[in-house]
Amino acid sequence: MAIIKQQDLIDSIEDALQYISYYHPLDFIQALEKAYNKEESTAAKDAIAQILINSRMSAQGKRPICQDTGIVTCFVKVGMAVQWDKTDMTVQQMVDEGTRRAYLNPDNPLRASIVKDPAGKRINTKDNTPAVVHIDMVPGADLEIMIAAKGGGSENKTKMAMLNPSDSIADWVVKTLPTMGAGWCPPGMLGIGIGGTAEKAGVLAKESLMDPVNIQDLIERGPQNAEEELRLEIFERVNKLGIGAQGLGGLTTVVDVKINSVPTHAASKPVVMIPNCAATRHVHFHLDGSGPATLTPPKLEEWPEITWEVGENVRRVNVDDLGKADISDWRTGETVLLSGTILTGRDAAHKRIKDMLAKGEKLPVDFTNKFIYYVGPVDAIGDEAVGPAGPTTATRMDKFTEMMLAETGLLGTIGKAERGAATCQTIKEHKSVYLMAVGGAAYLVSKAIKKAKVVAFEDMGMEAIYEFEVEDMPVTVAVDSTGESAHVTGPAIWKVKIQEAEEKVK
Ligand code: SF4
Repeated sequence: MAIIKQQDLIDSIEDALQYISYYHPLDFIQALEKAYNKEESTAAKDAIAQILINSRMSAQGKRPICQDTGIVTCFVKVGMAVQWDKTDMTVQQMVDEGTRRAYLNPDNPLRASIVKDPAGKRINTKDNTPAVVHIDMVPGADLEIMIAAKGGGSENKTKMAMLNPSDSIADWVVKTLPTMGAGWCPPGMLGIGIGGTAEKAGVLAKESLMDPVNIQDLIERGPQNAEEELRLEIFERVNKLGIGAQGLGGLTTVVDVKINSVPTHAASKPVVMIPNCAATRHVHFHLDGSGPATLTPPKLEEWPEITWEVGENVRRVNVDDLGKADISDWRTGETVLLSGTILTGRDAAHKRIKDMLAKGEKLPVDFTNKFIYYVGPVDAIGDEAVGPAGPTTATRMDKFTEMMLAETGLLGTIGKAERGAATCQTIKEHKSVYLMAVGGAAYLVSKAIKKAKVVAFEDMGMEAIYEFEVEDMPVTVAVDSTGESAHVTGPAIWKVKIQEAEEKVK
């Protein structure tokens, strides 16, 4: 009878979380490479190139792929005959201990993103615990673990519907996906859970994302049942939407669609759709009592050799010397290289700024003619100015944008994903701009940050306001001072292009 040591599970969880913080699954890299080679949209191709270069750099430097190092989600299948060497910890506690050690590892500290009291004070637990753990009892005498670090941007875009039995799931997906915007950092995967009850469909959807990318095999051999037909239908119809990498318009929005289903009530058709982002991170291992898991790192040669050069018409600017007149001719889609100082701030900092302004208090930072970068970086190690520091979803800051532009003198904003229609109008009214960095290219972006210091709200940890000194930080104008949004025009153009190309083939 195999006896599993608690310490083996704890050590394996720690290793696995460190491993997935800097190694993308190889099947995902290969799927992205395919998408890169196929892509015809320049903006989308550039974004995929940055994601792939970032991935290779992360693997090489053993630093996180994304500044959002995720919420730990762990599926544990426990054999009915498993025995433990000690019984003073639950499986949840063992996974939490491994998570704590992984996230506090001094060689590669990962960002603590978990807050307790989520409906109230939202206090950071500082060690990324607790993990979300799903436990199943299965036949056998070993443990099977699937562990993921799920980004908040993609998790936030989860959708659920209790469809009528006769409703089409593919129609629902195709109608719903465009409402999710680009905050889930496509290209990625869709995990779809069908059946059971509402909560069961959610767990099924999440578990489906633990499977490898293999839709090309399915395309080659052809579907053999209704579920496989549905996977293919959704894959094809979603990619025809033209949403593309980072929502900028292009040929690949998803690299795979996964489906898990179980029987359900005759009156019900629960469906949950969870997207996985450009920072798809998961790994699987078994424990049979013979020691902790050994994870084999991929070889660097397995990453494609892709280079990314900024185009000829790139605009190089010193952000310390800009006013509204200087940004008035920046146009949507243009690449800009920023040098100089920018400030940072995300959800919690904006909320505190709002409260301070409401009370008539003086802000601790002068935003006049500054850009604010929506980011919560990973802590630096060694000689880094800052750890991986990619953009967070700007859409969440929409509700603060009028206040920031009208009351603080802020010149412009930098983040990822789309701005709402009202915010585009606000940007237009204040003759501002919104710039976009590539979500999922955090380590690459951090290399443009030469100095970083906290200048306000230090108590907020990664949500504090930093001053970054940047050099040639690449961004794309996503909303210009006329209010035109790349996230509106890009997908619309590519949807038509894809339709026209199809009609030509017919
Ligand atoms: S790639 Fe985007 S959605 Fe995924 S973890 Fe990073 S910022 Fe979040």
